Amino acid sequence: MNSKAFANLPHMIFSTAGEQAPALKRSMLLGCITATLRGLVFACFIPLFYAVAAQDGRSIVTWLIVMTILMLVASIGDWYSRDYDYNGHAARAGNDLRHQLGQHLRRIPLQDLYRSRSGNTAATIAGNVDDVINYTMTVSLMLVAAIVTPTVVALVALFFDWRLGLALLILFPAVIPIYLWVRPMMTRHKAEQAAASSHLNAEIVEYTQGLPVLKAATCVGDKSARFISAAKAVEDLQIKSLRDESVPNLLLASAIEIGMLLVVALGLWQVSHGDISLMLLTALMVAIIRFAEPLSVFLSMMSIFEMVHAGYNRLQDLRDIEPLPQAQPVQTPSQYHIDFHDLSFTYAGQSDTALESINLHIPANALTALVGPSGCGKTTLIRMLMRYADPQQGNVAIGGIDIRHIEPETLNRLIAVVFQDVYLFDDTILANIRMGRADASEADIIAAARAAQCHDFIERLPDGYQTRVGDIGNNLSGGEKQRISIARALLKDAPIIILDEPTAALDTHSELAVQHAIDALVQNKTVIVIAHRLSTIVAAQQIIVLDNGQLIEQGSHSELLTQNGRYARLWQTQQ
Ligand code: ADP
Repeated sequence: MNSKAFANLPHMIFSTAGEQAPALKRSMLLGCITATLRGLVFACFIPLFYAVAAQDGRSIVTWLIVMTILMLVASIGDWYSRDYDYNGHAARAGNDLRHQLGQHLRRIPLQDLYRSRSGNTAATIAGNVDDVINYTMTVSLMLVAAIVTPTVVALVALFFDWRLGLALLILFPAVIPIYLWVRPMMTRHKAEQAAASSHLNAEIVEYTQGLPVLKAATCVGDKSARFISAAKAVEDLQIKSLRDESVPNLLLASAIEIGMLLVVALGLWQVSHGDISLMLLTALMVAIIRFAEPLSVFLSMMSIFEMVHAGYNRLQDLRDIEPLPQAQPVQTPSQYHIDFHDLSFTYAGQSDTALESINLHIPANALTALVGPSGCGKTTLIRMLMRYADPQQGNVAIGGIDIRHIEPETLNRLIAVVFQDVYLFDDTILANIRMGRADASEADIIAAARAAQCHDFIERLPDGYQTRVGDIGNNLSGGEKQRISIARALLKDAPIIILDEPTAALDTHSELAVQHAIDALVQNKTVIVIAHRLSTIVAAQQIIVLDNGQLIEQGSHSELLTQNGRYARLWQTQQ
């Protein structure tokens, strides 16, 4: 951490505390006062020792009372300074922060989000928020104590003997350059370690989410090998990190002790010259020993400080991703035809355009199919509609409104997607369907399930709608999962439906049931189907043929056959 990062830390801490920042500031202020009082207690040893030397009973009692009172007040202050943690401010700040990050994630371009793997993002939200919030108070108070208490002791010492006081004041900041010098040694493997940890996290997420698929494909061994090697990498780096810390810690501790010895030597030299009394030196020694304590505690906790700092940095990286700009005025479409106007898009860091000058009208209440070889741009076209990223040229409009004018939450509400691979969450079937619309009643959910042809098989499950997916995950067939996801989409009742060829991987029997479910879903909707098997889209009002990012043919099945172009050839091959 360079000095700039140090200087930026308080800003980061207070900005992540959000609305709880005043409580955090109050706690820190109390922490400062407490640390000052503690410093004063130690400094009181000096007049106390003088009183002992003078055998002045009254002064001894007075100073003892003063010290006791200071100590008591400091302890009370200490208790209140932890108010941030004890009174739930920290927990609230953590919750707000997660909420805020969730909002932010919804507004940042999916392109940027996908660039870091899902596990990384989950790790940032769950892990780093906890690292950052849980330790903020502890680390801040330690830092405050490490700075304030020694400074107070040194200032009081300055008052009694300027040379010794000055020596202490010089010694204390001298630790900082030493710290900055040894820090690179300590943190040599920290970044690698953090990267390895989030890699491991991503592996865990992928491994557990993908387990059923992997099992079906009997490649669990391969995946688990990757998972084990990721865990081993974390272990190796942890060992390296601990080794890295030992020498610098020793150096820092030695530096403080040598500094202390130098001060003692200076004091003894002054005593031998009769500049100060032995009594003063003894009293100073007591204070000085306490001087070093908060510093040593802080230094020994340095790795926590580093961890918190790394957590802040990763949070900051996530918060720094620019959200997609919201064009003004905000508009909400009331019609649901879709138009692509001269749209060209190139993925970040790519040189080939994924879509080139696409002009396309997708009518409402009709079925439009996208066909073409793999890599021709079908998925990218759908991503443009969902505002995965903004195109370099042209635009997409829903009901005549440029999607850049539509709020992300509204856009999300307008579109429901049914993918080929369905992901069900480890929750009840009921909750999985309710994901389509959070406020849906149980009756709504059952109605949607009936329409999606899944009510009967759900009723046959051990606990009906309350059955947990995790308990029966592998007993649901692809077609059944598919129908649950269609029920979700039905419940969402979005005016635009995107189907990523949901029946492609199903057997004929399941396909029929899913097809019935889809028929219920798409009534009176703007429907876009990504199709691989042309037989499924013969009835589509409009078929769009893409090749190499360009729209090459457009029309109904019979029109395209008459044109005798690419579609006609594809059709012949598939027949
Ligand atoms: P399809 O869905 O028709 O198979 P895609 O829309 O997925 O085609 O891909 C179109 C082109 O864009 C391909 O050349 C593909 O390699 C590229 N592409 C797709 N996704 C990304 C991405 N996230 N980053 C970079 N290039 C991509």
